[in-house]
Amino acid sequence: MLKLTFLGTSAGVPTKQRNVTALAIECLNPHSSGVQQGSRQQNTQSKKSRPWVLIDCGEGTQQQLLHTKLSLHQLAAICITHVHGDHCYGLPGLLASAAMSGRREPLTLIAPKAIATLLEAITLTTELYLPFALDFIAIEEVLAEQGDTNKVSISLSDQHQLDIDITPLSHRVASNAFGITQTISRRILNTDKLVADGIPASALWGKLQQGEDVTTEDNRQLHSVDYVDEEIQRTRIVVAGDNDAPNLLSKAVINADLLVHEATYAHEVLNKIRAKNPDYDPMHSSAQLLGEFAQAAGLKNLILTHFSARYQGFDNPNSKTPNMANIRLDAESVYKGNLWLAADFDQYMVDSAIGSASNQESGQEESRVQYIGSARSD
Ligand SMILES: [Zn+2]
Ligand SMILES: [Zn+2]
Repeated sequence: MLKLTFLGTSAGVPTKQRNVTALAIECLNPHSSGVQQGSRQQNTQSKKSRPWVLIDCGEGTQQQLLHTKLSLHQLAAICITHVHGDHCYGLPGLLASAAMSGRREPLTLIAPKAIATLLEAITLTTELYLPFALDFIAIEEVLAEQGDTNKVSISLSDQHQLDIDITPLSHRVASNAFGITQTISRRILNTDKLVADGIPASALWGKLQQGEDVTTEDNRQLHSVDYVDEEIQRTRIVVAGDNDAPNLLSKAVINADLLVHEATYAHEVLNKIRAKNPDYDPMHSSAQLLGEFAQAAGLKNLILTHFSARYQGFDNPNSKTPNMANIRLDAESVYKGNLWLAADFDQYMVDSAIGSASNQESGQEESRVQYIGSARSD
């Protein structure tokens, strides 16, 4: 289960209603809500069961966070799609605040190489000291080293893993999409079989469930694999940075439960901008381009974000003022799946059906994306 909180949904500049780009993704594990034995374990487990990843960090992202329940102590990784300011100017402030709030846990940062240079300059010029390790992973290196299967794996707990893969996009500077795949596995003890085999409930059951092979009092060797089924729940979303060629994501969205992509304007406006200044292409997508792509790719769920400041937040097709209806109708003219236009603090839950370990690659699992309200707690 992934819980999305949009912290900024505006393109280029903030508006009164929208901050610049940032998206929080909480990785929820419904199986680790504190049912561990021993109270010390319990605390760590329940705290660690809500780690989150931040995709892009526009200026003011840390102020947006103050209106939510998200804590910088549980932030597991930051991913930056590209170097444009509306996607990364919030990074130094957010890191400095994490330091001041006493964070000591290492933090993974996946970003273009240039972001490391930016942080070095700021660290030096402003005497910023981070009391935690910043594990910097350069996107260029991930793409170069691992080619087609590029990904960064983050282990959140014994049975909870996050894999982050990268797809290069088309924009004025190198821009990327992050594929976020959450895998939750759970060992389920086949108690019927144990009873049938004459093995009564005892501490041995727990050991078998933990994956240990054991010997019974009457000297029988029991193998964990014979009594434990592994249940796998996999949820995958793709979050794209700025991009004028959605087709580049064809491969990435296979088996994805959801695509989050920019739709800076409606198609008519995109054409006008291109016609007005043929020498300068901002290299963004229109809602229609995204709709066409999502429809052709058979994507069930699409969230659009990163809207030009010219669009007001209300949705009224009859208004002369550009508004969300322009974007919505542009996408709906070609896309028949589930469509949402993100607003700041909007939260969505992405949940996949549970499969067994053997059919995890089938891609036929039903996925659900649900709008669950606003994160603003004040
Ligand atoms: Zn942008
Ligand atoms: Zn950009």
